[in-house]
Amino acid sequence: MANIKAYKQYINGEWVESLSNERIEIINPVTEEVISTIPKGDVEDAQKALIAARDSQDAWEDLVAAQRGDYLMQIAAVIKNHRVELAETLAKEQAKVIGLAQVEIDATTAYFEYYAGWARRIEGEIIQSDRPGETMYLHKCAIGVAVGILPWNFPFFVMARKVAGALVTGNSIVVKPSSEAPNTVLDWMEFVHNEMDLPKGVLNFVSGAGSRVGQALSESPITGIISLTGSVGAGQKVMEAAAKNITKVSLELGGKAPAIVAKDADLDMAVQAVVDSRLIFSGQVCNCAERVYVAEEIYDEFVLRAKKIMSEYVVGDVNAEGAGMSAMVSQDQIDKVDGMVRRAVDAGAKIEYGGERMKEFAKGFFYMPTLLTNVKQDSEVIQEEVFGPVLPVMKFKTIEEAVKMANDSEFGLTSSVYTESFNTAMYVQKKLKFGEVYINREHFEAIQGFHAGWRKSGIGGADGKHGMEEYLQTKVVYAQMR
Ligand code: NAD
Repeated sequence: MANIKAYKQYINGEWVESLSNERIEIINPVTEEVISTIPKGDVEDAQKALIAARDSQDAWEDLVAAQRGDYLMQIAAVIKNHRVELAETLAKEQAKVIGLAQVEIDATTAYFEYYAGWARRIEGEIIQSDRPGETMYLHKCAIGVAVGILPWNFPFFVMARKVAGALVTGNSIVVKPSSEAPNTVLDWMEFVHNEMDLPKGVLNFVSGAGSRVGQALSESPITGIISLTGSVGAGQKVMEAAAKNITKVSLELGGKAPAIVAKDADLDMAVQAVVDSRLIFSGQVCNCAERVYVAEEIYDEFVLRAKKIMSEYVVGDVNAEGAGMSAMVSQDQIDKVDGMVRRAVDAGAKIEYGGERMKEFAKGFFYMPTLLTNVKQDSEVIQEEVFGPVLPVMKFKTIEEAVKMANDSEFGLTSSVYTESFNTAMYVQKKLKFGEVYINREHFEAIQGFHAGWRKSGIGGADGKHGMEEYLQTKVVYAQMR
């Protein structure tokens, strides 16, 4: 038990035990060993953290914006100083290959730096009045207390999506990490606590079950905005809870990203991009290609090449040489994915490659890269989020038909098209009903863009100027000169 770290809650600038005194074990998905424990917080912990956030918020908002920006730059510097150890923790707690873990840590540094730059650019408007001698001012104001609820798949980067936007705009925040992957954010919080002087109460962490702590944070009258990244089910629960106090929600939920490969696509590039997009982090990425529609003229060749790439894909420990992916995050997740593959096969799908757990690993939740053909548009594997290394391929005759099938989904997060024709690219991007369209490249957004899902994929969004504005509300002042 010597190496098992026991984390605490971080409330009002102090590390405290949960009032429940219960703990949740965190498992390394590669070794299946317990690597840490976190407090199983409860309603009282959530309440304490919200009160701390509320009581600190006024003074935080009263700082000039540049001071808040300076704090964000300090946070970025803390991450930079610990970038290697944070990446190691991230890799270990969720089986993310070390290269990708390092990318996530470094992107998080960039995120805080980018949002620090917005501090002096939060601007209002002056509006012409209808009354003589009056001026109307539209101010952009902090909302108050933000709640950030994190998923396990990109826990560190998504933390920045909540914390950077909330803090730079003058809000305080309570963060609830996922119980699958809380270690990196809590280690980071320790570094921030030890190495800089962030005002007490503006940033708090409470861990525990979504159904208890997450629910309590979402239904409190203290909460001004809840920003959740997670599944559609969690989003629905948060919306219900938020309805109690008409609290603002910003939801980034699941996806079922289609990729369309036209007959004139650069096939080498398209196959590689689609397969890489599906296999990165064992397919556990909300925005990556979950299904691909291929023009019938190139369909056989696409399947052949996709199969070859999958058969050569290196799967292993997070530090294994050349590994593109490692284990899935948990037993539940691998069971869910395998169940979906089994049901697809029962419904007539053909497994071109993979389709089972990897037997060469004695331990760990390893699933083979999997290619499915002969699937139907209305089948579960095309309609529901798989969130695993499973790529179903379908054929289309006309580009209009491809667009129709791509849009036939409850989800609307990201999408992509591969074509050498400008006209095809422009037609498809115009017709796709998704928050993001990628043309001739893999699905991965930029911090200065706006990551926002349509339909069940969410409400509101993150990143860039528009993501920052999620944390602001407007006040119009009517100033009558006498
Ligand atoms: P999840 O929904 O199981 O959990 C997400 C968070 O919500 C966790 O912290 C959980 O404890 C909390 N939660 C659960 N029930 C809650 C409730 N009733 N009230 C408040 N909080 C609650 O999701 P996950 O398994 O951690 O993450 C995977 C999902 O997240 C996938 O569907 C994926 O597509 C999605 N995701 C979306 C984006 C995006 O940007 N759109 C990014 C990453 C992940």
